Amino acid sequence: MMQSERGKSFTSTCCYCGVGCGVKVRVEGNNTVSVEGDKEHPVNKGMLCSKGMNLQYTVNDKSDRLLHPQMRYNKNMPLQRVSWDAALTRTAAVFSTLIEKYGPDSVAFYASGQCLTEEYYVINKLIKGFIGSNNIDTNSRLCMSSAVTAYKMALGEDSVPICYDDIELSDCLFVTGANPAWCHPILWRRIEAHKAANPHIKIIIVDPRATDSCSIADLHLQINPGTDVTLNYAIGRVLIESDNIDMDFIRQHSEGFDRYRELVFEKTLAESAAICGVAESDILLTATYIASAKGFLTMWTMGLNQSAIGVNKNLSLINLNLITGHIGKPGSGPFSLTGQPNAMGGREVGGLANLLPAHRDLNNGGHRAEVQKFWGGTAISDKAGLTATEMFEALHDGRLKAIWIICTNPLTSLPNARFVEQALKKAKYVVVQDISDQTESLAYADVILPAAAWTEKEGTMTNSERRISHLQKLVDPPGEALPDAEIICRFASKMGFKGFDYACMEDIYKEHTRLTKQTNLNIDGLSYSLIDEHKTIQWPFNKKSNTGTARLFGNKLFYTPSRKAIIHSPPDHLSSEMPDTEYPLILTTGRVRDHWHTMTKTGKVSKLKQHTKDAYLEIHPADALELGIENGQVSVVRSRRGEVQVKARISTAMKRGVVFLPMHWGKILGNDLNRTNNITSTLIDPISKEPDFKYCAVRVEKWSKA
Ligand code: SF4
Repeated sequence: MMQSERGKSFTSTCCYCGVGCGVKVRVEGNNTVSVEGDKEHPVNKGMLCSKGMNLQYTVNDKSDRLLHPQMRYNKNMPLQRVSWDAALTRTAAVFSTLIEKYGPDSVAFYASGQCLTEEYYVINKLIKGFIGSNNIDTNSRLCMSSAVTAYKMALGEDSVPICYDDIELSDCLFVTGANPAWCHPILWRRIEAHKAANPHIKIIIVDPRATDSCSIADLHLQINPGTDVTLNYAIGRVLIESDNIDMDFIRQHSEGFDRYRELVFEKTLAESAAICGVAESDILLTATYIASAKGFLTMWTMGLNQSAIGVNKNLSLINLNLITGHIGKPGSGPFSLTGQPNAMGGREVGGLANLLPAHRDLNNGGHRAEVQKFWGGTAISDKAGLTATEMFEALHDGRLKAIWIICTNPLTSLPNARFVEQALKKAKYVVVQDISDQTESLAYADVILPAAAWTEKEGTMTNSERRISHLQKLVDPPGEALPDAEIICRFASKMGFKGFDYACMEDIYKEHTRLTKQTNLNIDGLSYSLIDEHKTIQWPFNKKSNTGTARLFGNKLFYTPSRKAIIHSPPDHLSSEMPDTEYPLILTTGRVRDHWHTMTKTGKVSKLKQHTKDAYLEIHPADALELGIENGQVSVVRSRRGEVQVKARISTAMKRGVVFLPMHWGKILGNDLNRTNNITSTLIDPISKEPDFKYCAVRVEKWSKA
């Protein structure tokens, strides 16, 4: 316990979602804290959602915490408590042997959008700059990689152009493939308050399910799953036909419009409406709402990203902002809602298999040389690393020998979970670095490394609007747990690598900021004290004026070589696993209101379990009637990969022919048979490599004893 801090209050940031709400953390006795919303924080102005309000129960309950390093010398031995030195010495020896025998691509790190920026930075530096492989990916691959790719293709770089204050400046919000009422609740409250104060503004929700976000919608387009590109093109067509596009912007600041215009006229409005399963009049009304808006925001998340055509869906949506010129001005722009608290920070340091720091390009030899020179390590490989699902395929077929899993629970969160289980069984060496003894990968670990949790370590995070916040260490971690960055740096030194002997966390941060110099996300010169002084700050940072940047592209100069935005025209064909006579229904997955990811944190809090206690299957009444399924009855959902057994919840919120399963339940907190990812699709987007969690073919049956 940091005795000197007891009774004091500190500002911090909620560690759950990408909204990035500010909290006041008061250090209490017994190494515990209490948490309340920070009234002066620009994001939430004191508000917290159910998860944020219950943060203290999650962090104060240390009953599940991993306290000491554990290790076994072979797969037949039980894990034993060992010293940090023994665990890291042996792991360094195993990694060195594997790299010598099979090459650097025989090892991989699989981390998390919940890691702090400093943690991401050192993991990325270690594997890319010193081990010589690009095999680092994170669970952000399951979340935002389609948006990252689309931003890069359309705007030249992974750059979210808006700020949250654009919500209150917008008069048309097009929310698609997202349920912010449950998944980004504080942003949603800002939208609700904006609508209540300005009833004339228009809110359009696009979702195959009627979610809570529809409660204040002017229009709900309950589309057939996967038809987003067709819908966005149909809206584009109507905007062009009705002359509600911005030809000046298109001519001066974009490329690709002529091809786009041809493509959107290939289908009639009636054909598009039939494909999407919505009324033609609703598409016309949507275009009318957009046309009359001074500020037009498009907001989206997993419904677009987690798809076999996730990038195409993203591009078709961004096009609506581009053809109407609604970008780089107040109340307007494309706004991807990030899932995890620091997925943005990971993107900034290049912590994915295909990225380099500060949005540099792995395919660019100049960029690789620049980063290598800065780090002073080995030559950075030009071979793209393995992405999340590819890592487990490579473990399964023996190309990958060792995996180091940090702060994520792939056995619950990755698609086709039984395959992931087999892959981990086949791995020669598995390191699991985590805070909780509830993560399922522990069963396959050769080494377990206990990590420090939120409030127990220092670092920075960036939220969905590029807002960087500084989190202080407020209490000591339990047992021998260490901050993730310190674990990685100690390991790097054991491997004999120079450049990981940082005196403090801010030294890592300063190194990261120097690497952003002269890039578009420049934060060179930004220190922890400057962030604290401003409370938070949005990149890029202006060193001369000591200010951040609320909105990008006000000058209409994009980051592409021509400085023009690109209007792409991808096909609208859906390449997901299609229903057939054997598997006639479409499965889509998502979150419930009060749980987070695989529930290793929220599953500890009884208040949070009250909203949704168990996993369930949501099904339309007509489908349930046809299958003879009653409300509350245990049902079996089968796909080509396995089955799930959960109680049915009959609901008119579902579209006919579509069923829904929540994503959170896994083997430890539920049981093997209520894990949704037993049955999800193995398809991924070919460009972003993001899995298709939102579409696969299933059949549903009544459960019977036999
Ligand atoms: Fe935390 Fe997100 Fe809720 Fe804000 S909206 S309190 S960041 S979980």
